[in-house]
Amino acid sequence: MIQPPAMLGILGGGQLGAMFTVAAKTMGYRVTVLDPDSLAPAAAFADVHLCAKFDDASALLTLAQCAAVTTEFENVNADAMRQLAENTRVSPSGDCVAIAQDREQEKAWIHKAGLPTAPYCVIRSAEDIQECCADLLPGILKTATLGYDGKGQVRVDTLMELRTAFASLQGVRCVLEKMLDLRAEISVVVARLNHQQSACFPPSENQHENGILAYSVVPARLSETLQRQAKQLATRLADELDYVGVLAVEMFVVGDEAQLVVNEMAPRPHNSGHYTLAACASDQFQQQVRMMCGLPPATTDLLSPCCMANILGDVWPDKGEPNWLAVLEQPQTHLHLYGKKTARHGRKMGHFTVLADDADTAWQQAVLLHKKLAG
Ligand code: ATP
Ligand code: MG
Repeated sequence: MIQPPAMLGILGGGQLGAMFTVAAKTMGYRVTVLDPDSLAPAAAFADVHLCAKFDDASALLTLAQCAAVTTEFENVNADAMRQLAENTRVSPSGDCVAIAQDREQEKAWIHKAGLPTAPYCVIRSAEDIQECCADLLPGILKTATLGYDGKGQVRVDTLMELRTAFASLQGVRCVLEKMLDLRAEISVVVARLNHQQSACFPPSENQHENGILAYSVVPARLSETLQRQAKQLATRLADELDYVGVLAVEMFVVGDEAQLVVNEMAPRPHNSGHYTLAACASDQFQQQVRMMCGLPPATTDLLSPCCMANILGDVWPDKGEPNWLAVLEQPQTHLHLYGKKTARHGRKMGHFTVLADDADTAWQQAVLLHKKLAG
């Protein structure tokens, strides 16, 4: 087990890296961040900022001297992680990150774990678009790699539209998924060290706007049974991957019988788990520190119903700042800004979490406060 004041390393210094760094520093560790952006949010908190490209040999050499290394984003070079693993403890493994980077592999592993996905097929070339695809229409064509926040996705109703969409994505390898009738979207963040030691945070119910997460409501407004099942599915997937670290598993609730279907996973803390910072006995970033250091997962109890709301660059007025006082005046609401210098449309600038006596009240209050932010 790795103890403070050991030096921990992280690939990536965005908001997830910043929240990881704060958690690690609070626990007495030191942190080295690798990120090519001189204004990376994590750089404000880290002991060392290696301002270099993610594949920079000398930066990776320095990172390899850390007691343990983790990542904050999945599109990191998995080979760089495998290379680091020759010299230090790396979690999650490069292999697990590589699986999560590729929707084709990801789905294969979800099935291997005995879990359901939406019906799908892999499209590698225009010739793969055959009549059999018709069973999957209407559907969503997703690029196999490099998609996020709904980017690299096209909704298609007919074979003709599918052909056009595939061509518009430059013919890169894709997955065609049947469009499901979603009752709800949920996610579970699980921290896993080994078969005996893992812990799930309560599932959050996620609402998206324009393909980007807008609100996470906890507890999810679903039966206790379904919530328990969701945690079991996430744990089973982590076990199958022999995952070490924090894994976020996104799921759909479909059909009249409310069945769970696994959508995708992220090999890191997740936006939908930010509520844990304000409302749980531990948070997802502490868990990331604990897992990479070989410490047992902390308890994950929910201390209060809550709703997390994302703050995107969209709420910035032409001149000046959003109405922060609207949020700060509320004693039950926690504001969290990431310190990014420029607000852009769709850019994640921060979030706030409303605590309340029940999930509905928290959600209503969050929607109201979000409107007030924009003035
Ligand atoms: P992110 O990285 O932000 O989670 P993403 O770009 O990786 O997003 P997905 O999570 O696969 O993409 O899909 C984005 C959203 O599109 C989902 O949250 C869901 O609302 C919708 N969606 C995706 N797949 C399906 C499906 N098979 N049926 C119905 N809706 C879907
Ligand atoms: Mg998603």
